[in-house]
Formats: sequence, C-alpha cells, structure tokens
Amino acid sequence: MIGNINQLKKLILTPKKVVITTHRGPDGDAIGSSLGLSHFLSKLGHDVCVITPNEYASFLHWTPGNDEVIIYENNQKKADDITNQADIIFLLDFSQISRIDNFGEAVQISNAKKVMIDHHHGADNSIAELIYVDTSASSTAQLVYELIEAMGMENMIDKKIAECLYLGIMTDTGSFKYPSTTSKTHEVTAKLINTGIDNAKIHDLIYDNSSENRIKLLGYCLNKKLRLYLDKKSAIISLDAKELKEFGFKNGDTEGFVNYALAIKGIKFAAFVAEKEGIVKLSLRSKGNLKVNEIAKQYFNGGGHINAAGGVSQVSVNETIKKIEEIINNLKL
Ligand code: 5GP
Ligand code: MN
Repeated sequence: MIGNINQLKKLILTPKKVVITTHRGPDGDAIGSSLGLSHFLSKLGHDVCVITPNEYASFLHWTPGNDEVIIYENNQKKADDITNQADIIFLLDFSQISRIDNFGEAVQISNAKKVMIDHHHGADNSIAELIYVDTSASSTAQLVYELIEAMGMENMIDKKIAECLYLGIMTDTGSFKYPSTTSKTHEVTAKLINTGIDNAKIHDLIYDNSSENRIKLLGYCLNKKLRLYLDKKSAIISLDAKELKEFGFKNGDTEGFVNYALAIKGIKFAAFVAEKEGIVKLSLRSKGNLKVNEIAKQYFNGGGHINAAGGVSQVSVNETIKKIEEIINNLKL
C-alpha cells in the first residue's frame, strides 16, 4: 500500500513548516525514523519540529537532534501552536490516532497536510492524506530511506541522517535477526554504513549502556517473575508498580525483557506485563504463525506486528495475568 511518490516529492519541493510526530513510548525506530527524516527535510530548507507524545528512554538521547525534540506532555502550549501553524505533519511509525494520546486532537484540527509513513498492520487511512504504509518493511526507518531513494535523493543522506536511520532499522529488526530483515534491509544498511557512521558504536550505545538497576531488574524478572507454561509453549513475566519502584525504574528499562522469555527453548508465545504510571502495559511476542497483533487487538485494545505487538489492560496486573493464562489455554500451538 505504498502511496504515490510524486505527490510526496512535490509536497516537499518548496520549504514549509513541518511537524513530525511518532507514537507514545517512542522506541528506537520511532526516534530514529523521526529524527532521520527531520535532518533530511531540514537539509531541503524546511522548518522542522519533532514532537513526541511523552518522554522516551535515555539510551536514545544520544541521537542527533534529540535536544530539539518537543515532548508534548511537558510543553503542550508550544507544541499546539507549532502544530496549528504547520503546513505538513508527518505521522511516523504509527497509524492510529490513539497512539499519540491527546496530541491527536491538535494534529486532527490542524489544517496541515498529513503524511503517514508506517509499517504496522491495521492503518486508519482516514487520518492522513498521503499514505506510505508497507507492512513488510522491517522498520519505519527503512521506509524513510526507501522513500528518499524513490525520490532520487539518496545522495543527500549524510552521516547524521544515516545514524538515525541505522538506529531505527537496528532496533526494529532486533539487530538484524527478525524475519522482517530482508536483503533490502541489508542493502539499505550497507548504504547507511557507507556514509561513514560508526555502526558498532550505535550497538554499544543502545545495548551495552544499561544502568546497574536495569540489569538487576532483568535478573529479578528472570529469577523470580518468570511463569512458564511449557505444555502450552508460553511464558509470562510481570512487574507491578512497587517492584518497578524498588529497582528505580526509568523509561525504557524493561525494553527487550519479553525477548528473554521467548529465548527459552520451545517457547512460542511470551507476554510481558508491567504497571507503569497507573497503566497496565503489555508486550506480546511470538515465533511462527501466531499473530500476537490480533490477540493485542482483541483483548488489549492494542496492535502491532504479527510477532511483536502491545496493548493495555484495564484490570490489575494479577487479573491481567489470569486473562493471559486463559488466552494461553486456548492457544493452538
Ligand atoms: P512493544 O512491546 O515493544 O512496546 O511494542 C511492540 C509493537 O507493538 C510495536 O510495533 C509497537 O508499535 C506496537 N504496540 C505497542 N503497544 C501498542 C498499543 O498499545 N497499541 C498498538 N496499536 N500498537 C502497540
Ligand atoms: Mn517500527
């Protein structure tokens, strides 16, 4: 469902006021694709502002352009004014307005032309005029590269843009290991590396840069909080607010924990449940054909990809675990 590239090219031909936004709880792809596109558009002479609904993990703060990002939750008035005056709003790495919380209101009432670039299933096409959705793409960052390439402007991709896009592709492919990693992904990555970026350094900044608390919390989860349902090829890890507080939880600290449950031999379905800021958030992962985005949509008002999805639960952590156990019992694995 890739949109018309000439329309996009025409739109960005002359300098405009641009807002780029991405989903709540921005991850590496959300930040990498947003800042990568932002540097590219700035180079074309646009006046660009990246606005995220809320704060994000500190391991992403090294990304070039991070200091200029406006956090909607902390600076609503300024963000509303900028959004109101924007000519174009890019919606990156999400395709349902609820994913940007109450920033969605300002986006929807703005007269700006909206451009969606995403790789999730279940896009709401009514929220943008130009739609560039490819659910087979490894990441939104890869899609941003492909769009720049399709416009014949890939020579403009410099080190700064490349660092951002590499971050997005690397994190959303689980360091180039998920099935979404194609030869195209590697081709794009090779071109990014050829701009002179220090790719090994980016891995280090993301994966080997944890706080002591995060590693101890991971140990606690694996040692004390892992529930295994081996006959059902499933596992659940959960944390309540008290436990997170004990380990001095910071945004992003539990990122990737769910994958450890899935790393156990025989496990095909893993859930991670955590009570954050009064909300019970879920991360679901699977191997093979089990569509966790459908489970997330049906039971947890969420969505995502076939093998990686998320959502929220309206009940307590313990009740959520019971609900997941019921789901597990009915799985055909
Ligand atoms: P994670 O578990 O890493 O937070 O998210 C996994 C995938 O599911 C990501 O692609 C993310 O964008 C998507 N996702 C996470 N939470 C939600 C949610 O509440 N709603 C929707 N629609 N997608 C989500
Ligand atoms: Mn993504």
